[in-house]
Amino acid sequence: MKPVIALVGRPNVGKSTLFNRLTRSRDALVADLPGLTRDRHYGEGRVGERPFLVIDTGGFEPVAKEGIMHEMAKQTKQAVAEADAVIFLVDGRQGLTPHDKTITDFLRKSGRQVLLVVNKSEGMKYTTVTADFYELGLGDPYVISAAHGDGVHDLVNETLDLVFGARQAEQEEPEEKQESGIKLAIVGRPNVGKSTLVNALLGEERVIAFDMPGTTRDSIEIPFEREGKHYTLIDTAGIRRRGKVFEAIEKFSVVKTLQSISEANVVLLLLDAQQDISEQDAHIAGFILESGRALVVGINKWDGLTSDRRDEIKIDLDRKLSFLSFAKFHFISALKSTGIGPLMKSVNSAYAAAMINLSTPKLTRALEEAVEHQQPRRKGSIRPKMRYAHQGGQNPPIVVIHGNALDAIDDNYKRYLEKHFRETFSLIGTPLRIEFRSGK
Ligand code: GDP
Ligand code: GDP
Repeated sequence: MKPVIALVGRPNVGKSTLFNRLTRSRDALVADLPGLTRDRHYGEGRVGERPFLVIDTGGFEPVAKEGIMHEMAKQTKQAVAEADAVIFLVDGRQGLTPHDKTITDFLRKSGRQVLLVVNKSEGMKYTTVTADFYELGLGDPYVISAAHGDGVHDLVNETLDLVFGARQAEQEEPEEKQESGIKLAIVGRPNVGKSTLVNALLGEERVIAFDMPGTTRDSIEIPFEREGKHYTLIDTAGIRRRGKVFEAIEKFSVVKTLQSISEANVVLLLLDAQQDISEQDAHIAGFILESGRALVVGINKWDGLTSDRRDEIKIDLDRKLSFLSFAKFHFISALKSTGIGPLMKSVNSAYAAAMINLSTPKLTRALEEAVEHQQPRRKGSIRPKMRYAHQGGQNPPIVVIHGNALDAIDDNYKRYLEKHFRETFSLIGTPLRIEFRSGK
């Protein structure tokens, strides 16, 4: 599972500047999809080969009893509880404040790994900028400049080393990787019917058998079979464990949802037809899109709706989730067990599309067809020349196009190519990525 790093600190110490720096390398195509809303508090970062999740906790007033500050403190507490390590940012220009001490007390009680990090330290001497902060008793501070990037790379590497060191100590046995069929994650906001759907898929008996206590931080994998096909349900979010021993777990966790998504082959996004599509739904959809996982959308609680309401929700879907048009939508009732068969057929075909193997000759032929039909535009005197394509990855399929001056290809043309490959190879239910490699 990807390690989780939480950024904590007073307002204005530079948390969101650091967050942006850590999560910057995003697929540009994802960035400008119309309608896609992003949750700027959760993101994925990568240093070298090592991916991680990062949470920006916003402002933190640990003492606030009510109001927005109290709400933010609650969110911060959840983030810290879910994190493997905490980067505690302080402001090197301002020096130590009483508020920093309060946060330190809270972090110490949390039992998490804490790295004390002095930000805004560009152009300052280590001893000067850190002197104040030894009083916090968190050891030698790290110094960075989030705005300029100084020290950020090393900081993340150290953080990840810490996390992985701790993890190895925790679990001596190496995880066994066995063939588990299609890895499926069911995600959605609270009360959309995830548990009910899991029950419908697994059957009550199986559910009881697998309802065993584990720690809240584990990812639980539940194998099941349906119509002769093997699946593994990734239940990082603890769908199954709620309401019994684990009542105390927060009902919804973005971090666990993100982890479920990243461990799955296919994500089943569940929506509630009795409610409007909310910002939270759109955020989750955005996470799935960024992950590149295959996707099937289930609109649940379709039973007992008036036809007016059904029309309404269809319009709402078109308007708010148009960026998911590559996926199949199913109207289902988890409670009445209707529509589940076709839904699972789409899961199978989305998986097949995501895992497709495309040979270089086939891809190159499709590329030639696309170019014949429409040439990429010149950029000044430069005409991009695409020569051949090969497949560079699965889940999502990546088409790598080789040629010359490919930097000059614009996003519109890239989208045109994506659509052409998608149609040529009937790729429904999976995102498709196009990458360019120029020879010269
Ligand atoms: P947050 O409230 O903790 O998320 O803080 P922000 O990231 O919004 O930063 C607050 C202010 O500090 C902004 O004006 C930033 O430009 C500035 N800032 C952030 N990082 C640095 C840094 O490394 N050096 C300097 N000089 N300013 C910074
Ligand atoms: P979760 O929080 O996403 O796991 O949601 P639950 O499975 O706990 O369901 C929340 C509520 O919605 C429960 O009261 C369910 O009985 C109800 N529910 C779930 N699926 C359906 C459905 O298909 N139709 C109707 N009418 N209610 C449903």
